[in-house]
Amino acid sequence: MESCNCIEPQWPPDDLLMKYQYISDFFIALAYFSIPLELIYFVKKSSVFPYKWVFVQFGAFIVLCGATHLINLWTFNIHTKTVAIVMATAKVLTALVSCATALTLVHIIPDLLSVKTREHFLKNKAAELDREMGIIRTQEETGRHVRMLTHEIRSTLNRHTILKTTLVELGRTLGLEECALWMPTRSGLELQLSYTLHHQNPVGFTIPIQSPAINQVFSTNRVVKVSPNSPLARLRPSSGKYMPGEVVAVRVPLLHLDNFQIYDWPELTTKRYALMVLMLPSDSARQWHVHELELVEVVADQVAVALSHAAILEESMRARDLLVEQNLALDHARREAETAVRARNDFLAVMNHEMRTPMHAIIALASLLLETELTPDQRMMVETILKSSNLLATLINDVLDLSRLEDGSLELDVATFNLHSLFQEVLDLIMPVASVKRLYVTLNLSSDIPEYTVGDEKRLMQIMLNIIGNAVKFTKEGSVLISAIMAKPDSQRGPRSLPGDGSFYIRVQVRDTGIGISQQEIPKLFTKFASQSPASRNPGGNGLGLAICKRFVKLMEGNIWIESEGVGNGTTANFYVKLGFAARLNESRIAHTRPQPKLGQTSFSGLKVIVIDDNGVSRTATKGILGHLGCYVTAVSSGDECIQVITKDHKVVSVDADGFNVARFVHDIFSKYNEKPVIIAVTGNADRTAKEGLMKVGVDGVVVKPVSVEKMRVVLAEVIEHNKVVLQ
Ligand code: ADP
Repeated sequence: MESCNCIEPQWPPDDLLMKYQYISDFFIALAYFSIPLELIYFVKKSSVFPYKWVFVQFGAFIVLCGATHLINLWTFNIHTKTVAIVMATAKVLTALVSCATALTLVHIIPDLLSVKTREHFLKNKAAELDREMGIIRTQEETGRHVRMLTHEIRSTLNRHTILKTTLVELGRTLGLEECALWMPTRSGLELQLSYTLHHQNPVGFTIPIQSPAINQVFSTNRVVKVSPNSPLARLRPSSGKYMPGEVVAVRVPLLHLDNFQIYDWPELTTKRYALMVLMLPSDSARQWHVHELELVEVVADQVAVALSHAAILEESMRARDLLVEQNLALDHARREAETAVRARNDFLAVMNHEMRTPMHAIIALASLLLETELTPDQRMMVETILKSSNLLATLINDVLDLSRLEDGSLELDVATFNLHSLFQEVLDLIMPVASVKRLYVTLNLSSDIPEYTVGDEKRLMQIMLNIIGNAVKFTKEGSVLISAIMAKPDSQRGPRSLPGDGSFYIRVQVRDTGIGISQQEIPKLFTKFASQSPASRNPGGNGLGLAICKRFVKLMEGNIWIESEGVGNGTTANFYVKLGFAARLNESRIAHTRPQPKLGQTSFSGLKVIVIDDNGVSRTATKGILGHLGCYVTAVSSGDECIQVITKDHKVVSVDADGFNVARFVHDIFSKYNEKPVIIAVTGNADRTAKEGLMKVGVDGVVVKPVSVEKMRVVLAEVIEHNKVVLQ
């Protein structure tokens, strides 16, 4: 029987094959044992690997595999049972550990996979972060550029410098070939090329604002890409290059500057923009980056703000310059006005003196003439001379008063006086004329008006005389009704409230049935040299009276106004002034403020008087008056002359006030003697302060020019009595 080939015949161990197997097993075992060592080293060194125990397990598995191969070395020959047992144990252990490892791997593979995913995710994240870092860096760079640019722009407030700086800085930062600014023209219909970086002769280029390229840029606040062929971009110097660089444009809003009329600034009835064009270099592959465009947008806004600030500043500077100019002109005008006022005052002072001196002579001599034997005709003529001269003297006083009122140098002369007597006195002065005209003059004094009050008696009398005098003057027939009441607050045009300082308001109304005043004329009455019309103008009037009254009334914190029903219907003049209640009746003070003429003393026979006056006419007049009063008069023209002629017998020295240093001089001389003469100053200045000044330097009495016999008599009598001069 043939043996079956299907079963391999028993094969006796071949020595060479065995040898190969033996060597292989040895190396396998060696390799197996080395791997766990490497794994242990790896696990030790790696701090992050999460599955260390798997490695341990895996290591054990390999060690066991190695162990089986190693034990195998002893199984090639006949071996002991112990070797077989060890081999079996190693195999069983290897099986167990390998199965466990396989299971563990199944278990941890998803985990390992997710670690992979996470790793991938982290990688992505890192890349993203990288990108973001890049963006942040770009933004920082943009910010730095913007800050730099803003700083440059803001470092000046000059429009030209701002724009030039902007273009230069932008050009440098962004590496531009050209950069330009188009400003709207004043009409707003065109854009005009105003500034460029390199263009030689930019001004003058204009583009109609309604072109599509411009509309496109104006419609958004973002940067807009513009075709290099657009008219906006046609500024590049032609250099024979073929590939123009990319061009962008952005609008620059021009802020609406309310209340500013700025030269060269378009009229912003609607929102207006300027336009900035930026061009990258030609023949380069450069393109605009997003962050560059952002920078351009931010810069455009900054330029808008800086431009409007600069425009406002320019306007303020122009306004300031204008103001400085106006101030200079005003200053000049003021100085001229001051010079004019000074000149006027000097003129008035000179005129005052120069006019009063002849006036003094005329009035003094005329009054002297009246005292002599005259025919009725002569008396009438002399009386007319006297009356006219008095009128002229009043006019001079008025003009002087007015000028002093206007420059504010006139002050009220406040003292206690009898208000009731004042009304009576005014009436006494008015009555002669009124009775000639057959006018009924009635005075109604309200019973609550105090008898003694504090105020400027002379000025109040002047106001009343003027108003009542006008009423009499402008009334041919009928009546003049004078009424005075304590003014109540809110009475027509009267004071708004009562003063709470020991004072009160008195309101005086003078109603006449005279020629009346038309409504149009009324407002003009209080201006200087006003008179109703040439026809109604009285020959003695000068149109100054009411103007002066108004200023006096204002000084007395009051008001004055005139009402009339029209021409022919009479006139009502009203005024109110503030007066003080007299604290306590002090007769001596009142007596002092209103010297009562000593009518008993009419002749000063034998009284030795020296008259010092440098003006011959005036000297003669004073000498004449004193002579008429019975004095024995020596007239001299200077202090020196006076010293030569004066003796102890001279009881009175009459001195022209201008030479009041003479008065002091005379005093000095007489201080050596026990007795000194009484000094009377004849002065043109009626001011209280001037009078007080004279009194201070030793003058005993003051006679204000023009001097009449009567005036001199009163003052002379007073000083003689006061100084107890004994007449021989
Ligand atoms: P004058 O010295 O001319 O009287 P006034 O300033 O006192 O100056 O008066 C100015 C003008 O006001 C007078 O010229 C006159 O036309 C008018 N006027 C003043 N008071 C009256 C009045 N009672 N009746 C009519 N007209 C008057």
